Amino acid sequence: MVECIILHKILRIKTWFAKKSFFKHLEHKIPAMKPSDVGQRLAKITKCAISWDEHTRKFYSVDASSYTIKPQVVAFPRNESDVIKIIKFAKRYHIPLTPRGAGTGLVGSALGRGIILDMRNFDKIKLGASQVEVGSGVFKGRLDKILKKQGRVIGPDPSIGPFCTIGGMIGTNASGIHSLKYGSIIDNIVQVRMIDSSGHVIKFPGRYDSKDIIKKIQSRNHTFPKVSKNSCGYRIDKVLSENDLHKLIAGSEGTLGIVTTVKLKTYPSPKNVLLYVIHYDTLLDAARDVPKILELKPSAVELVDSNITKHIKMKIPSIGCLLFVEFDNTAQDRKQIYKITSGKIIKTESSAVKIKKIWSFRNSALAYSLQSITKNETMPTLIEDAVVPVKRIPLLLKILDMVSKKYGLRVIVYGHAGNGNLHMRPVLRQKDLGLIKEIAKEFFSGIISIGGSITGEHGDGLARSEFVKLQYDAKTYSIFKQVKKQFDPENILNPGKIISSKSTVTRNLKI
Ligand SMILES: Cc1cc2nc3c(=O)[nH]c(=O)nc-3n(C[C@H](O)[C@H](O)[C@H](O)COP(=O)(O)OP(=O)(O)OC[C@H]3O[C@@H](n4cnc5c(N)ncnc54)[C@H](O)[C@@H]3O)c2cc1C
Repeated sequence: MVECIILHKILRIKTWFAKKSFFKHLEHKIPAMKPSDVGQRLAKITKCAISWDEHTRKFYSVDASSYTIKPQVVAFPRNESDVIKIIKFAKRYHIPLTPRGAGTGLVGSALGRGIILDMRNFDKIKLGASQVEVGSGVFKGRLDKILKKQGRVIGPDPSIGPFCTIGGMIGTNASGIHSLKYGSIIDNIVQVRMIDSSGHVIKFPGRYDSKDIIKKIQSRNHTFPKVSKNSCGYRIDKVLSENDLHKLIAGSEGTLGIVTTVKLKTYPSPKNVLLYVIHYDTLLDAARDVPKILELKPSAVELVDSNITKHIKMKIPSIGCLLFVEFDNTAQDRKQIYKITSGKIIKTESSAVKIKKIWSFRNSALAYSLQSITKNETMPTLIEDAVVPVKRIPLLLKILDMVSKKYGLRVIVYGHAGNGNLHMRPVLRQKDLGLIKEIAKEFFSGIISIGGSITGEHGDGLARSEFVKLQYDAKTYSIFKQVKKQFDPENILNPGKIISSKSTVTRNLKI
């Protein structure tokens, strides 16, 4: 009898536990709440602005990529405490959370269907002698102005100029025209402060409890392309010890934590700058010159093709392409360029104002490209960010030629030739849209086969995350997955970016 009672009690307890875990399970499978439900509940737990009106949701449904995804709610946290509350809420209801800077990213990495965290209120700047501590929502343009008064600059300078935020630059591991001299964001972060998916504040470098993940990263059981910049996957190749964990966050696209503050290196503003504009008949001629030019230690080597040159207000001898080669005070013997180039130097400029004007032509390459497409054409941002070892640019051009001939594509080419990072933008006709995935796969396979990376600075996002496993071997990809699981075991933070089990390259395209 006593045994019967005990057995009955055990069964009741078991059922109670089963029900509890069943509800817990259900909680994660709750059908998507209405935007107004999410918004109203969020507004009860935090005092920061929360918007879920149609206009705001539409505004945040796009960035500079070719995709569109309408979020449920947009939140504007004022401080870390707001971020922590929102993360905990998102985790409880299993709602995806995507941090966003200025939305100038080109691969849809700042788009999400759940809560968007607009980080604009993280806007503090604290100057140091050779470093700056900066809130993730600070616009680069504002930081540049403040640093200018101090006679200093930050290194990475995306062509979008002042309009991107520091958080977004961290998210994509941004670089730019002068990455040849200063590297990408990953080479310039000194410290990162962020909130992980459990709502814990983490400061890297610093003590990190999970020794296991550090061991896995440090096992060096991974293979990475030997290129000067790379925004594909998690950059575990740069994490040699616990002291390098901040580098893991560069290019992590908001998938490991919400960055609130970073410390970046600063440099004296360059002086004694000289810019050469060199004309070549073909891209191949220009590409062959680049390794020789690099021996002179220029601060920038940029390339634009004939689609761009026709918009440039400068006397150009004939259709062809241009290399912009800049030297600053760190250069060795800049005059050597006359001896080594096979192209024609059509301009030498030393006036800061005029150099700025010439760079503005190069920075407008994307806008000029868009001007060149007709009504029935489109230019999705998909395969536009290849990076290869500089000596292999001619091979990259060959691969591009093969793919474009096979599919009958017109391609616009410009970019950071000094880094082997070329933005190759195929112009597609409406009827080609069904071929996007095939074209991308073929082109990416070519890049990988010559030791390159499918993205040098724009990141993976919706356009490329499914191809990350094409670039890396199974062991490396498995470490990526473990890294994601360590920081975000329930896959709340920007899900589907970098680690992706679904194909997103053509879903949600707005073209
Ligand atoms: C015309 C044009 C030219 C460009 N030229 C260049 C170039 O030369 N070089 C280059 O590198 N890029 C370039 N880009 C791409 C883009 O401008 C950069 O990637 C930029 O750094 C993105 O900044 P953002 O503030 O707009 O970020 P967003 O687009 O808002 O976000 C980018 C990523 O960062 C994440 N993120 C944002 N804030 C945070 C945060 N606080 N914590 C964690 N994650 C966060 C987002 O989730 C997303 O994954 C260009 C874009 C355009 C439109």
